[in-house]
Amino acid sequence: MTFLSMILGLCVGSFLNVLVYRLPQDMSVNFPASHCPNCGQRLKPHHLVPVLSFLFLRGKCAFCGERISWRYPMVELLNGLLYGIIAVYYGTGALGILLMLSASCLLAVALMDLDTLEVHTIMLTAGYVLAVLVIMVRGYAGESVWGYMYTGFLGMGLIMLIIRLSRGGMGSGDIHILGIIGFLLGPALTALSFFLTSVLGGVYALAVLSLGKRRGSDAVPFGPFLVGGFLLSLCFGGTILEIYRKLLF
Ligand SMILES: [Zn+2]
Repeated sequence: MTFLSMILGLCVGSFLNVLVYRLPQDMSVNFPASHCPNCGQRLKPHHLVPVLSFLFLRGKCAFCGERISWRYPMVELLNGLLYGIIAVYYGTGALGILLMLSASCLLAVALMDLDTLEVHTIMLTAGYVLAVLVIMVRGYAGESVWGYMYTGFLGMGLIMLIIRLSRGGMGSGDIHILGIIGFLLGPALTALSFFLTSVLGGVYALAVLSLGKRRGSDAVPFGPFLVGGFLLSLCFGGTILEIYRKLLF
């Protein structure tokens, strides 16, 4: 099932690329059919196989030879990998499938934030709907869901406070991203997720400083760091907390 989950993840990842490209421009997701943005040629089915088509075409459009961004196969691979890991840790029942879709949804949110510094309302709505479904499945399985609910609201409140205090840097999209993360992960993993976000942010800041690439006024989207922390915590949080407990006690 892990292998099948990864294949599913690759295909959903391919769809995410379409979403991330089209939604911010208010284009329809299914029309027109996938085409090369340079020459407009409609792509054939064998050009649309995740990752493999990119390798087969050596990263170029089959018609005009225009370079295709590395990001497309990377997103597909990452999404496939996420589905495999989630299948291992959470199974392939309702909870596992919903967490896979939630991970994809937030991955798309991060990529849109990276491209446009904005987060599309449709994606946030989808994220909240998935989070509510995850809470219902957990409740149905007999888990206590209060922790997940208050963590979601606490997360939203925390970011609101940071926005108030820092004036800028973070936007209202971040409130919703952390809200969704809180509802999905519950208290312990959300705390870990926020910690990992600050580690990622710190590493990024150090890298930018040491490379001397900082361009004064450029706004850095915060969403990708929140989502990065979330994905790490979702996939490896249980293991990280386990090791942490063993070191402490
Ligand atoms: Zn082309």
